[in-house]
Amino acid sequence: MEKRVRVRFAPSPTGPLHIGGVRTALYNYLFARKHGGDCLIRIEDTDQNRYVPGAEEYILESCKWLGFDFDEGPHVGGPHAPYRQSERKDMYREYAEQMVRKGHAYYAFDTTEELEEMRKKLEAARMPSKYDAVSRTSMKNSLTLSEDEVQKRINNGDPYVIRIKLPRKEEVRFHDVIRGWVVVHTSQMDDKVLLKNDGMPTYHLANVVDDHLMGITHVIRGEEWLPSAPLHVMLYKYLDWESTMPVFAHLPLILKPEGNGKLSKRDGDKLGFPVFPLEWKDPKSGEVSSGYRESGYRPDAVLNLLALLGWHPSDNREMFTLDELCEEFSLERVSKSGAKFDQNKAKWFNHQYILKAPISELTDKVMEDAETRFPGAERSYVQKVVELMREKVNFTTEILDAGAFFFTEPESYDDKVVRKKWKNDIPQLISELSSAFNDLGNWSAHEIQSCFSSFAESKDKSAGSLMQPLRVSVSGEGGGPPIFEMLEVLGKETVVSRMQNAVETLPQATA
Ligand code: GLU
Repeated sequence: MEKRVRVRFAPSPTGPLHIGGVRTALYNYLFARKHGGDCLIRIEDTDQNRYVPGAEEYILESCKWLGFDFDEGPHVGGPHAPYRQSERKDMYREYAEQMVRKGHAYYAFDTTEELEEMRKKLEAARMPSKYDAVSRTSMKNSLTLSEDEVQKRINNGDPYVIRIKLPRKEEVRFHDVIRGWVVVHTSQMDDKVLLKNDGMPTYHLANVVDDHLMGITHVIRGEEWLPSAPLHVMLYKYLDWESTMPVFAHLPLILKPEGNGKLSKRDGDKLGFPVFPLEWKDPKSGEVSSGYRESGYRPDAVLNLLALLGWHPSDNREMFTLDELCEEFSLERVSKSGAKFDQNKAKWFNHQYILKAPISELTDKVMEDAETRFPGAERSYVQKVVELMREKVNFTTEILDAGAFFFTEPESYDDKVVRKKWKNDIPQLISELSSAFNDLGNWSAHEIQSCFSSFAESKDKSAGSLMQPLRVSVSGEGGGPPIFEMLEVLGKETVVSRMQNAVETLPQATA
């Protein structure tokens, strides 16, 4: 029987989650759901220096906003709790010590100054400055010091780290689902620290130990971790876990819109789009970074756009709900090359989801603003405005801006339209049309339209020559939603009085 799929999203709480990290969470989630497996979240907080208060809460809230319901994690518990590495601290030492006993790791007592000196020497000799099979022979570690000396130093409480002992020349080879075979020689690697002198494990040790203990079958993570993978493969080998080593899949980067390099917060600031799911206030500097949620993006749109940044379905289809993605997703369809972020495409997705959203949900959103901006606005009226305006906007927050004329008299009239169209007999015709409207018994878009058409015909005018003057007289704008529906929603009284107002004020405006 195939092993049950178990994947994990393993963020470090070092700040707000970049959308690249959100995509990693998403792909893990989709993969687990597709295979009927488990997706857990584990907080990798062993690097105390980089710990940022509030970051873990931020990460969990972002995931919640996007609808990832993790099967296990610090917020929901699970059979492998705790899911916060700082709370698992004591578990890791044993594995590092076990590697020392088996000759795959060693204690190193070098001071910062000694390490610095080694670096300088190697650089002067034009050699790569790394602690490895060659350089370790001249350093202070349990490979060069006598057993007694090592014991003495440990008993004495001298600070030490535990380093992996890599062979001088060995090929490390592993298969990555996205990248194929990856081959690295240990001569290009260094003896990374596994356990720090404060007793905390490094990322590498904690990550591998936890993936093993938590039964992780697939490691799906960003490309920036690819250089660490050979070391992880060696750890699996030295800990005798090779037979259950997870499958690796390193996801491509999300690139800047021009495609040169990783999408950064600076690109977002420069071009005016968020790179974080939620707004983030830096606890130290107080600097605020914008978030998709606060910028008016819908979670369904963000999920859809992120899903397609690196993965593609078998056809050209673009719209996917989370459930549909869970069905369709496969690691085989994740590309090797980076995916360019496209801000216009992001807005397009949001627009598509506004068109698909239940009207009551959009109305709830718009009502929050409407109540403060246009006190007394009734829900049923706002809903009609939303129905007409959603075609026109990328964000629900734009509905009240673009449709402000539904709530207030126009304060000015579109200059271009007025200059081009409001001339000769138009004021007179608009005035007469307002009377015809006033006489209408049934104020429906359909009736308004036939009244308008017969009026134009009776005056020997094309509908086109009257339409824009009518629109501008009522809304002040040159464009907008379908005009007869718009007039119906505004109501007869408002329309007639606005038309008459325009007739009175506009000739002076153009004079
Ligand atoms: N803690 C690492 C990060 O912050 C996780 C890398 C991994 O998934 O192995 O991205």
